[in-house]
Amino acid sequence: MQGQSAQRDTDVVVAGAGPAGLMLAAELRLAGAGVVVLEQESRPTAESRGMGFTARTLEVFDQRGLLPRFGELKRSPGGHFGSVPVNFAVGDGRHAGVTGISQARTVAALGEWAAELGADIRRGHRLTRFTDTGDGVEVWAEGPDGEVRLTAPYLVGCDGGRSTVRRAGGFDFPGTDATAELLLADVKDLELPPKWSGERHPGGMLLAAPLGDGMVRIVVSEHGRAPLERTGPPAFSEVADAWKRVSGDDISGATPVWVSSFGDAARQASAYRRGRVLLAGDAAHVHLPASGQGMNVSIQDAVNLGWKLGAVVTGRVPGTLLDSYHAERHPVGAELLRNTRAQATLFLGGPEMQPLRDVLTRVFGGEEAALLLAGLVSGLEIRYDVGAGDHPLLGRRLPDIPLVLDDGEKTRSTRLLHPARGVLLSLGADPEPARLAGRWAPRVDVRSARPAGTGPAGETVDADAVLVRPDGYVAWVAGSGDLASALNRHFGEPTG
Ligand SMILES: Cc1cc2nc3c(=O)[nH]c(=O)nc-3n(C[C@H](O)[C@H](O)[C@H](O)COP(=O)(O)OP(=O)(O)OC[C@H]3O[C@@H](n4cnc5c(N)ncnc54)[C@H](O)[C@@H]3O)c2cc1C
Repeated sequence: MQGQSAQRDTDVVVAGAGPAGLMLAAELRLAGAGVVVLEQESRPTAESRGMGFTARTLEVFDQRGLLPRFGELKRSPGGHFGSVPVNFAVGDGRHAGVTGISQARTVAALGEWAAELGADIRRGHRLTRFTDTGDGVEVWAEGPDGEVRLTAPYLVGCDGGRSTVRRAGGFDFPGTDATAELLLADVKDLELPPKWSGERHPGGMLLAAPLGDGMVRIVVSEHGRAPLERTGPPAFSEVADAWKRVSGDDISGATPVWVSSFGDAARQASAYRRGRVLLAGDAAHVHLPASGQGMNVSIQDAVNLGWKLGAVVTGRVPGTLLDSYHAERHPVGAELLRNTRAQATLFLGGPEMQPLRDVLTRVFGGEEAALLLAGLVSGLEIRYDVGAGDHPLLGRRLPDIPLVLDDGEKTRSTRLLHPARGVLLSLGADPEPARLAGRWAPRVDVRSARPAGTGPAGETVDADAVLVRPDGYVAWVAGSGDLASALNRHFGEPTG
C-alpha cells in the first residue's frame, strides 16, 4: 500500500540496511507506507559488531512477534560499566539483556521481516547525493546498472557513523574526535583462557571473549596509541604485534575471521531532522561501543520514528508529529554519549585510574548503584514527555502483563501491539475512554480486559485505562490528563 504520494516513486527512501534502516523499513510498512531501502553492500555482512540485545530491545522485538526468529534466548546477568563489573540482573532481574545473538543474525532477521512486509530492499545501491525540494526529496544512487534516481516525500539516513546523508544534508555533528584506537579481531585456533572483563597490563588493556563455535573476540587497547586515519581495516599482524607488546604473548598463529578498529569519538547530530531529511541510528550518534548499546539505541530510534513517519506520509496526521522524534530521541542519544564517555574514561585510562576503578567496584556492588547503571543501559527507564499528568506509567513503556480479554481470550499486553497500531486498553468499569477512543478506529484498537497476573518482573498496570502508542509507550492514563488531546496529538483528527 502506498501513501499520499502516488506521483512519487515511494513514500520514504531509507539509506542503509543495518539494524536501524531495516527496523525502520518494517515499521513503515506496518504503518502502511511504501519504502525503498538503498544499501551499498551487495550482500549482508557476516561481521558482527554487537553480540546481543538489551532488555528494551527484547521487549520491542516481542511487541512485533519477532522473538521466535531468534531461537532460544539466553538472558545474561553479566555486565560492566567502563570495565567495572555490574550485575545487570540486580533487583527483579528486568534489566538483564540477551546474549549470544550476533548482530549479523539480528540484521538477517530484521531483513527477512522487512522484506516479508513488502519493503523494497535494493542491495548494491550506494546513495551518492540528494536534493530536498521542500515538498519532497530527489535521491541518486549508484547501482549495479548505473545511476538510479528516486523521488519521495522523505529521506531517512540510517547509513551509519560515516553517514553520507548527514554530511550531504548539512547536519551539524558536534562532539569530540577519537583520542584512542582499539584493535579488534575475531579469530579461530587461539589457545587463550577467555576472559570477559579487561585484563590490564602496564602497556594497555586486553580482552578475550568467547563467541561460540571456537571463535574468540580479542580487543587490544595500547596506552598512548593515537588513532590513525585508515582507509581500510588493519592487518591481523598489526593486532598480533600490539597484543605481544602489551602481554608478551604471541597470537600470530591464530586464524583471523574479521579484523577491525574502533575508537572513542563521541558526536551527536544537533538536529535529527532538517526539512524532509531525518537521521536515525549511528548516523545520528557515534560513541565508544561500551556496554552494548549502539545497535539497541539505533533500533529504538527506528521504532520511535517508524509509526510517526508512516502516519505523516500516509496523510493520517500532520507533519508536526515528526517534531516529537527529535524531542524524544535526541535526549536518549545525549545520555548514550554521556554514559559511554564516562565509560571511556574508566576503560581507556591507564594505571592512574586504578584506584578509582577499585573504589567503583565496591560502589557498583551496591544494589542502588547497580540498578541505576543497569537501567541506563537496558533502555527500560526511558520516559518521554507525552503531555500533562504525573502517573508513573505516563511516557514509559507498557509493561508486559497477562490479560484476559472481554471475550475470554487470554493474551498479553505486549501481544496487543503486534499490528503496530495505537491501543486503548480499558481495564476498569468506566466505558467512556473506550467509547471516545473508538472514534479513532482503525488507527487505535480498543481492547477491554482484566489483568490476569503480573509481568515477568512482577510489573503491574495500576490504572483503569491506558492509551498506548504503536511503539509501546503510554501516552495517557485514566485520571491523568485529557484523553481526547492525547489521541489528537498522537493519532490526528478522529475518523468517526
Ligand atoms: C567493535 C564494536 C562492537 C559493538 N558492539 C555492540 C554491542 O554489543 N551492542 C550494541 O548494541 N552495539 C554495538 N556496537 C554498535 C553497533 O554496531 C552500531 O551502533 C549499529 O551497527 C548501528 O546500526 P545502524 O543501522 O545505525 O548503522 P550500521 O550498522 O552501520 O548500518 C549502516 C548501513 O548503511 C550502509 N551504508 C552506508 N553508507 C551508505 C550509502 N551511502 N548508501 C547506501 N548504504 C550505505 C552500510 O553498508 C550499512 O549496511 C558495536 C560497535 C563496534 C564498532
